Amino acid sequence: MTDFILPEEVKSISIDENKIYELAIIGGGPAGTTATVYAARKKLDIILISRDIGGQLLLTSDIENYMGFHYITGSELIKKFEKQTKQFPVPIILNEEVKSIAADKGIFTFSTSENKNIKAKTAIIATGKRPKLLEVQGEKKFIGKGVSYCATCDAPLFKNMDVAVIGGGNSAITAVIDLLKIAHKIYVINIRDYFKADSILIEKIKSSDKTEFFSGYGVKEIKGKNHVEEILIYARKTKEEKTLNVSGVFVEIGLIPNSEFIKGFLNLNGKGEIIIDCDCKTNIPGIFAAGDVTAVTEKQIIVAAGEGAKATLSAYKYLLGMK
Ligand SMILES: Cc1cc2nc3c(=O)[nH]c(=O)nc-3n(C[C@H](O)[C@H](O)[C@H](O)COP(=O)(O)OP(=O)(O)OC[C@H]3O[C@@H](n4cnc5c(N)ncnc54)[C@H](O)[C@@H]3O)c2cc1C
Repeated sequence: MTDFILPEEVKSISIDENKIYELAIIGGGPAGTTATVYAARKKLDIILISRDIGGQLLLTSDIENYMGFHYITGSELIKKFEKQTKQFPVPIILNEEVKSIAADKGIFTFSTSENKNIKAKTAIIATGKRPKLLEVQGEKKFIGKGVSYCATCDAPLFKNMDVAVIGGGNSAITAVIDLLKIAHKIYVINIRDYFKADSILIEKIKSSDKTEFFSGYGVKEIKGKNHVEEILIYARKTKEEKTLNVSGVFVEIGLIPNSEFIKGFLNLNGKGEIIIDCDCKTNIPGIFAAGDVTAVTEKQIIVAAGEGAKATLSAYKYLLGMK
């Protein structure tokens, strides 16, 4: 057996605003970093522009469904993605957002929040999603310490505990279904008096003695010392307040695609997600998209990484066709 020696990280590579890169990758989450590694291995002349490295993994505490790792934390997986990306001489613009895209004679220009203008022949948009926040006191403090935005991923961490699920749509009710097998008690807090979720899903949770419903209730505050301990809720009509003792709060009120900057440029669906075909092509030739920002239904790390790889291979073929 041959020992594999990990390559050294390449230090910083200068950014050239005068050149035309072959491929610009926008977003440094699982989709964007995977796209970058694939492109670097194809020896494409690329640039990566991202607000951060990690994306939603920065919000994730424990991961048990990324193949190759029985268990890994979000921050450990980010470090691995980052190391693998930085073994190649790829110029990276970090801590900046792409604010707009313009197209002229087959060349795309990406303007960033720090007024850089990057030109490329092709691009992969991999800007992901961000969870819709409740915007209540205590929420940000306890992200990863009891507050979760992904029941599919984090429910197993709340075995035999009391938890609250916030929301009334399909994702909230699916979260409750996941938690029924795991948690001790589940409070379902829904701002509306009715559920938007499909009735077939609601039927599945209504008969359980583990669930208690607070319809017409909002959340006022999430409290605790180092970890979530309580949630303060209020009745929308009467303003009556109640405190529930919980170890977990699952906020399932939706995710927002980071697609504002390409609105009007690329075709989006009603949720603001980029419409792509099975080769990750958008409606604009030369622009590809991958991961959670697209209309691909499953939002998972392994899916985003796979789509990132596909997008690069499609962009590579497109570039070959240009030559
Ligand atoms: C709390 C939580 C826990 C999760 N747990 C799991 C789990 O256990 N297993 C699992 O498979 N999935 C999990 N997920 C889902 C998973 O994290 C996502 O499916 C995955 O991160 C999507 O990858 P992405 O690269 O498409 O997007 P993202 O991870 O959202 O990354 C998008 C990137 O684009 C950057 N960006 C955004 N806008 C711009 C812009 N305008 N300009 C430049 N850069 C921009 C962001 O900074 C980020 O780097 C979880 C999600 C959350 C929120």
